[in-house]
Amino acid sequence: MSVETQKETLGFQTEVKQLLHLMIHSLYSNKEIFLRELISNASDAVDKLRFEALAKPELLEGGTELKIRVSFDKDAKTVTLEDNGIGMSREDAITHLGTIAKSGTADFMKHLSGDQKKDSHLIGQFGVGFYSAFIVADKVDVYSRRAGSAASEGVHWSSRGEGDFEVATIDKAERGTRIVLHLKSGEDEFADGWRLRNIIKKYSDHIALPIELPKEVAAAEGEEQPAVEWETVNRASALWTRPRTEIKDEEYQEFYKHIAHDFENPLSWSHNKVEGKLEYSSLLYVPTRAPFDLYQREAPKGLKLYVQRVFVMDQAESFLPLYLRFIKGVVDSNDLSLNVSREILQKDPIIDSMKSALTKRVLDMLEKLAKNEPEQYKGFWKNFGQVMKEGPAEDFANKEKIAGLLRFASTHGDDGEQVVGLAEYLARAKEGQDKIYYLTGETYAQVKNSPHLEVFRKKGIEVLLLTDRIDEWLMSYLSDFDSKSFVDVARGDLDLGNLDSEEDKKAAEEVAKAKEGLVERLKAALGESVADVRVSHRLTDSPAILAIGEQDLGLQMRQILEASGQKVPDSKPIFEFNPTHPLIEKLDNEQSDERFRELAHILFDQAALAAGDSLKDPAAYVRRLNKLLVELSA
Ligand code: ADP
Repeated sequence: MSVETQKETLGFQTEVKQLLHLMIHSLYSNKEIFLRELISNASDAVDKLRFEALAKPELLEGGTELKIRVSFDKDAKTVTLEDNGIGMSREDAITHLGTIAKSGTADFMKHLSGDQKKDSHLIGQFGVGFYSAFIVADKVDVYSRRAGSAASEGVHWSSRGEGDFEVATIDKAERGTRIVLHLKSGEDEFADGWRLRNIIKKYSDHIALPIELPKEVAAAEGEEQPAVEWETVNRASALWTRPRTEIKDEEYQEFYKHIAHDFENPLSWSHNKVEGKLEYSSLLYVPTRAPFDLYQREAPKGLKLYVQRVFVMDQAESFLPLYLRFIKGVVDSNDLSLNVSREILQKDPIIDSMKSALTKRVLDMLEKLAKNEPEQYKGFWKNFGQVMKEGPAEDFANKEKIAGLLRFASTHGDDGEQVVGLAEYLARAKEGQDKIYYLTGETYAQVKNSPHLEVFRKKGIEVLLLTDRIDEWLMSYLSDFDSKSFVDVARGDLDLGNLDSEEDKKAAEEVAKAKEGLVERLKAALGESVADVRVSHRLTDSPAILAIGEQDLGLQMRQILEASGQKVPDSKPIFEFNPTHPLIEKLDNEQSDERFRELAHILFDQAALAAGDSLKDPAAYVRRLNKLLVELSA
């Protein structure tokens, strides 16, 4: 045992304490994954060393045989993992093993319910990493030294996984990290060669560097202890370089968990090799669940980049558009230089063509999923639909393809679930219908009962119901799909085209003519509040509605802009009334101009309320209505 100096005890960050507690209590049914997590870290550390050594070969310190060794001691009840990767300095150990740097962690922790089953799912989204050692160990010792630093600058980190940990400076001859797990009582099954070998084969076969276990060798004659011989137990070749046909689903799944730090299997993947002008392999995954930090601006995104099998960087963001930021995977290029930087990636024309090819692969993969596994696609949409809706604005070239992947709630759908695709909508559209109708609003309940839908309900025409915050903005980027244009049913003068019969149209014209006087009277009464007044053909039950001008901002966009403190251009609605409604008939017969004005304003305000808007002068509305109520009861 080497001399320890500068020994100190430090407390874990609060979030680490919570994570440790949670892990120990919710992952006990899947204990063996600790080994996968630690091997995954060791493999990352070796990748990092290999990459840094490209520029500084001296980091290898003569030891170029990169590997991971796993050993055990049945009597001492320990399991030891050793790698000769990049290693950690004392400061590294304090920050990396004492805090969690992920943005949004504290927020994430607040979502934990205390219900172990639910939490173990959540923790899967979060990724547990190093701390999973404490599932099986009640004490963990980490001995490490950063490659390139002096042998005297090693660190010993030690903890029982409770409130704190100790660090001390030690001498460590070899670079890299050795982790000793002191198994909890009852967990000695892991101090066993056969068990360890099986776990490694099961979870870590795809790791691209050798993972060695000691081989059982009989002691030579005259010697008490047998010499240790090491044996590689995994396949040790990069998974994506192997032919697709030879790779089992389980291997793809385990590889995903390694690169994505996810606990759950992916929903789907796409593995490809491109040859020709550009040469690269890609392995792209759609996760089953959204990571907890999907909407955090600084959350990690992008692919793992390799150049000719050598790991170059994590989170290479230039290979996929932002709206596909949830995709995980690897890209391995033969054309890029090993010392490529993020800045170069942003400018390189090679990357542009790779980006469009990879984007297409992802969209194809999603199309296939939607077609072949509609139930799974529903789950995908629940998790990632909001992000996909950013697509049409960002990726003009693939607009039609993305539109085909969108899912909406609809008047013909189920309880507001977003399950209706545009192709499905058009397939069941009415004979002669050449438009895609939609309505946006705050909540499903509000749009579902909107007076704007009355004529559609009467004629049995399907209308898409859009209530996500992003929807109105999304629709401003979508003008058509499959050559059918989108029509906002709350906007402009609704023209149902072929869906209205010639008689309908003729009758409507006649009514409009007959009501010209009422239109003029209403215009005078409502004055500055409206842009126009006209007879409506879309109402069956309601007396009146407000239509938005063809070019005006919708309610949702206006509210978003106002909330962000921007000045919104004032726009006036068009007042449309239902000529056959009894209230309108009453209005038409009203002799007193004063009473006509009062009633017109009440109808106007009611129409605004039904559209989900707030009233400019709510007190005036209440006063008018109460006056009317008093008159009625008098
Ligand atoms: P993650 O791997 O998701 O970052 P972990 O908790 O597993 O989270 O590990 C935290 C950090 O500790 C790693 O990012 C890495 O910097 C460091 N680390 C863990 N294991 C090793 C190792 N074997 N060699 C070098 N650094 C390591």
